[in-house]
Amino acid sequence: MSEHPLKIGKFEILGLLGQGSMGTVYLAHDPYRNNKVALKVCTLDNSDRIGHKLFFNEARSAGSLHHPGILRVLDARDGSEGPYLVLEYVADAEPLTAHCRANGLLALPQVVAILFRLAKALDYAHRHGVIHRDIKPANILLTRELSPKICDFGIARRTQSDTTQLLGVFGSPRYMAPEQALDAPISPQTDLYSLGMVMFELLTGQAPFIAAGFSQLLKKLMHEAPPSLNQVRPELPPGLDDIVQRALQKAPQDRYPSGKAMAADLALIYQDLHLGEVRPSPEEMGR
Ligand code: AMP
Repeated sequence: MSEHPLKIGKFEILGLLGQGSMGTVYLAHDPYRNNKVALKVCTLDNSDRIGHKLFFNEARSAGSLHHPGILRVLDARDGSEGPYLVLEYVADAEPLTAHCRANGLLALPQVVAILFRLAKALDYAHRHGVIHRDIKPANILLTRELSPKICDFGIARRTQSDTTQLLGVFGSPRYMAPEQALDAPISPQTDLYSLGMVMFELLTGQAPFIAAGFSQLLKKLMHEAPPSLNQVRPELPPGLDDIVQRALQKAPQDRYPSGKAMAADLALIYQDLHLGEVRPSPEEMGR
């Protein structure tokens, strides 16, 4: 007996891809376009209005973004199973979380290339008026070729929009910038801070601030400087620590002015590793 629906709308369900906090993700076939897509079906119950809002906010925010470093949201629909998103399908996708643990770290050139692509993708989103607000390893999918795709724009903020958006403290405390934890105004630098947190974990397998609860974490976020990367891994090029320290500055104006500027510094590190330029991903080649 099948564990999943056979059909959702026009889509034939081929299997289960995963279970996230907001929904179940299925592999599906689009019979009209004859291609594979991923369907994310909202599993929150009907009374969870915030949850539904997050779901459609994702479609509105990511739906306007077309970049190889951002998972495409193709459509949002209301079906008998509940609301669902039609997403670009990434074969053998794995969340970045697996590589943020000490026993799963990737080789240095791969990490630098991933960070470079993430900084460029954020730069693109910011230039198109979208701040993600929840950059963390679980919201980044890696392709088979180790290219990252940012997903889960559920709590993203559209800077030019006049429609109702989600306000208030959302996001994941472990990756939050100080201004976000304090519910103060956010900016593109808020995402670049979270990317700095992801960078620290990808390179060391540990978080820069470790605390037992939210109030202790907040105190560290506000007042403590993050440790140097080289304290944990002395063999890393010191230029990498300069990048992470700039991304993790407490005051947004002391961080990188843009994702592009952060990407430029990462590209220099890549060159210093004597690997030439960061090679474009197969998708980027075709653009
Ligand atoms: P999420 O709800 O976004 O956290 O997704 C849960 C899991 O489903 C992820 O960890 C992936 O393994 C898988 N998944 C999500 N979106 C896709 C996609 N577009 N293509 C392939 N697998 C996906």
